[in-house]
Amino acid sequence: MTLDGTTIQIFANIGSVDNIGAVLLNDAGGIGLFRSEFLYLENNDYPTEEEQFKVYKRVLESMAPKKVIIRTLDIGADKQADYFHLEKEENPALGLRAIRLCLDRPEIFRVQLRALYRASVYGKLGIMFPMITSVSEMEEILALCNQVKQELTADGIAYADHVELGIMIETPAAAIISDQLAPMVDFFSVGTNDLTQYTLACDRQNAKLERYCDTHHEAILRLIEMAAQNAHAHGTWIGICGELAADTSLTETFLRLGIDELSVSPPFVLRVRDAVRKIDLSKVSS
Ligand code: PEP
Ligand code: MG
Repeated sequence: MTLDGTTIQIFANIGSVDNIGAVLLNDAGGIGLFRSEFLYLENNDYPTEEEQFKVYKRVLESMAPKKVIIRTLDIGADKQADYFHLEKEENPALGLRAIRLCLDRPEIFRVQLRALYRASVYGKLGIMFPMITSVSEMEEILALCNQVKQELTADGIAYADHVELGIMIETPAAAIISDQLAPMVDFFSVGTNDLTQYTLACDRQNAKLERYCDTHHEAILRLIEMAAQNAHAHGTWIGICGELAADTSLTETFLRLGIDELSVSPPFVLRVRDAVRKIDLSKVSS
């Protein structure tokens, strides 16, 4: 809580179930980003619904009653699994990755959605979709989620009444049309790693571009501000889960822009919490 009494959620990012211990040890308020790719990258074949269900159930049970936001498959670009047989692309970061791949191969996406909804009764689940750029993608995703829920009902399998659905704001397009996207979802989470790459036209894999990858660039902050204003105008909450969330030189700026949640790697949780506690939003910023 800030000095003026505003509550900010400080969550943790994880990339494997092995990290849950670090999340609990550092007393995070929940998991703001569970990168589910490891399930696919560590396997030699598509993980089954049952395999995924067991993992999601375990994370939800370990964290309950705290919230766990699981991001759906974000594969392609720098994250490759041979059995997907992805075609070689000239510009993989701009290619058939993340949600694009899931919508291109809905049979793979459905398995993950079914496993997630099945696990939802074991804790407080949020599902987050990566690399969104348009309203039509969101419509397709929501239709698929509804289909999966109907199938589960028909199969007599339980799922939670309310599973929060959210999107990553990690493309400039998503931030710019955030007024249209906000009414469709429960939350936004800003992926500053990719948002920086796509806004500043800087390949995040290219170390030589360091001087151009200015994460404090005014363009990034303005996109975050735009998304925050549009989120709140529609009663949608907004967090940041990219690396920048842990940059305490920006914590006050983020809170003044209206950020409700910061999700950071477990070792940064207490540092960010300490920074939040020293901020007084009732005072005019210096
Ligand atoms: C991001 O892009 O900021 C993000 C959190 O996702 P990833 O780093 O997994 O692409
Ligand atoms: Mg990303």
